Amino acid sequence: MRRGDMIEVVGFDADDTLWQCQDGFDEAERLFVDTVSPYASPGVDLEDALRATELGNLAISGYGVKAFGLSMIEAAVTSSAGTVPSRDIGILVDHIHDMLREPVRLLDGVADALHAVAQTHRVVMITKGDLVHQTRKVQTSGLHHVFEHIKIVLEKDVSTYRAILNEWGINPSTFLMVGNSVRSDILPVVELGGFGLHIPYHVTWDHEVVDAPKGTFDTVASISDVVEWLATENPS
Ligand SMILES: [Mg+2]
Repeated sequence: MRRGDMIEVVGFDADDTLWQCQDGFDEAERLFVDTVSPYASPGVDLEDALRATELGNLAISGYGVKAFGLSMIEAAVTSSAGTVPSRDIGILVDHIHDMLREPVRLLDGVADALHAVAQTHRVVMITKGDLVHQTRKVQTSGLHHVFEHIKIVLEKDVSTYRAILNEWGINPSTFLMVGNSVRSDILPVVELGGFGLHIPYHVTWDHEVVDAPKGTFDTVASISDVVEWLATENPS
């Protein structure tokens, strides 16, 4: 029996699985450090300050570029003890707007891989983040039509996946989730009794890094390998 025979539905994450995302945040973080460091209080680690502000705000503002932008402004003010000039805040705000307007940049092989998987399996997308921005990315990706369902959620944890699969009438034991984050895409689905296929991206947001238990999921190098993974005989 091939792995794909046990799976009815393949779910894909979007950010850093289908299209670039973290690179943009890393670039914004560098701009933040360059812009604020002339005003930073002595001894302040600006990257740490920004990360701590982001994590502290997750519960009230969620994930995504707009939430990140607010945290960046807050961290600029607090780590400079209020001395950062408004024109520099303006530079950060302009950059956030640029990030929101930026065209979607698909990763290599994504369109071919999705169309190939869709030949044999039902395909869905589950992504988290800002509703307006993620919706725009999905709509401008040119891939919208491949997906039977698309869900943009606040958090990707066990209860969220359980509710989504239940809503879509999918048995978790026949569901494969493909994504770049072990924490958000893989472990919750494995815990529900489904399959996880990890595709590491070259950069990962610190918040998403976890120590993963070995042997509960597979890893492939690229989205182009998903079809072959599905076609491989199941070892057990
Ligand atoms: Mg992702």
